[in-house]
Amino acid sequence: MFSIKNNYQQIQQRILLAEQQANRVDEVQLLAVSKRHTMDKIVSLHQLGQLDFGESYLQEAIEKIEQLQQYPIIWHFIGPIQSNKTRPIAQLFDWVHSVDRLKIAQRLNDQRYQGKTALNICLQVNINTETSKSGFSLSEVNSAVEQVINLPQLKLRGLMAIPKKSAYIDQQKQNFALLKEKFNQLNQQFSLNMDTLSMGMSGDLEAAISQGATIIRVGSALFGERDK
Ligand SMILES: *Cc1c(COP(=O)(O)O)cnc(C)c1O
Repeated sequence: MFSIKNNYQQIQQRILLAEQQANRVDEVQLLAVSKRHTMDKIVSLHQLGQLDFGESYLQEAIEKIEQLQQYPIIWHFIGPIQSNKTRPIAQLFDWVHSVDRLKIAQRLNDQRYQGKTALNICLQVNINTETSKSGFSLSEVNSAVEQVINLPQLKLRGLMAIPKKSAYIDQQKQNFALLKEKFNQLNQQFSLNMDTLSMGMSGDLEAAISQGATIIRVGSALFGERDK
């Protein structure tokens, strides 16, 4: 029988084990990816103590955020961003993981309320330069960082990637290691304290944690198959 509580405990166990194997203690945060899942499931998981939820489809996300206003949920946007849809993203979310071009960063900055804390963002990197995926290439991301750090309403927290799927853990690790290496290099080059590597999903979270992930984005392993 489907039990969100069981799934939650299993994921927490997987995180703990992967952290132990990497000699890391309490460094990995779970982002529950609730896209295409009902609000009931979000509330159930929230009541078990989960605070951070990720959504990919803006219209669906807006409805959920409005309906669930009474819950102190931290909302993360992780999906593709159309430039004419940045305003609600800038205003409703606490985090955006999928900033994939400078124009989007600029618009999010301009549309974030002045009175609100800066919007936490990650730059999305297209690790395997797949045409089906968005994101900066590894070579473009340095100049993007240089510009984004001057936008006052954005707080650059780190990098995000969705590497090419692989069934081989060594291949998964290699991809995540590339992101980690770039992350370290950027912190050094620009004297930054970026603290977030958003990488790893239901199928490859162990590999991601072994390579330094600080946020893993887990959907199906928590909520089951998506509803629509
Ligand atoms: C859907 C999605 C996830 C979650 O994927 P699962 O395989 O269901 O864990 C993570 N990150 C992004 C960007 C997604 O769109």
